[in-house]
Amino acid sequence: MAGDERLLKVENLVKRFGGLTATDNVSLDLRAGEVHALIGPNGAGKSTLIGQIAGELIPDGGRIWLDGTDVTAWPVHARSQRGLARSYQITQFCPEFTTVENVMLAVLSRTGHTYGPWSPLRRERGIEAKAREVVERIGLGPLADVPARDIGHGEHRQLELAMALALEPKVLLLDEPLAGMSSAESEQMVTILNALRGRYPILLIEHDMNAVFALADRISVLVYGRLIATGTPEAIREDPQVRSAYLGEGDLVA
Ligand code: ADP
Ligand code: MG
Repeated sequence: MAGDERLLKVENLVKRFGGLTATDNVSLDLRAGEVHALIGPNGAGKSTLIGQIAGELIPDGGRIWLDGTDVTAWPVHARSQRGLARSYQITQFCPEFTTVENVMLAVLSRTGHTYGPWSPLRRERGIEAKAREVVERIGLGPLADVPARDIGHGEHRQLELAMALALEPKVLLLDEPLAGMSSAESEQMVTILNALRGRYPILLIEHDMNAVFALADRISVLVYGRLIATGTPEAIREDPQVRSAYLGEGDLVA
């Protein structure tokens, strides 16, 4: 797959829980720079699919490729070192540390270093500069030197995203990044994600259909473990199978 634009590729993935096929022969890919949204009713198998991509769940069949390498049998940490970042994996931040310090910790964890008197100052300065750049990019510049315990809920979610981006991922998996946010916080996060467009390929699971249709280049729809459609937002909105899958859940998009 040298030169392949598909940074993530899932082929004929199958996952069973007893008699239930939670992932039923799913194939999808994520191309360089695209936002690919994965939607579907509750229980459709979105989290199960993401769990297999991240390496937390072992599939019963099929393959997962990350940047040209078959990672199907790889553990979580090996995939993350290979460039896979998942937003909710990084919910741990240190409340006593400032925004920038938390992002620095994320960078240090990636490179396998820890703080200490033995750390060359110059390298730490480089890491701090990198952390500040990411913090600015994610809109947390004014809170860069504020302890994480003193920033708001929406800002914590931004901090998690900054910590994921500090790892310079090749692929970003976002599992409901807007969950629990106020509408103002959601709006800000959508603006931030829009600004990341093209820079990181994002596989986005999100219930907020307005956000999905605002952000996605492509949308895939899962129902009972099966992918029933993949296409542009316009094609998905008009797809009769998709519309019927969402009947009773309100309009696909306001
Ligand atoms: P979604 O994220 O789309 O809401 P899930 O992936 O969480 O859906 O769940 C898909 C289906 O698999 C559901 O029917 C759920 O009950 C079932 N399921 C998920 N995880 C497990 C598990 N660990 N054991 C048994 N069944 C599970
Ligand atoms: Mg879920």
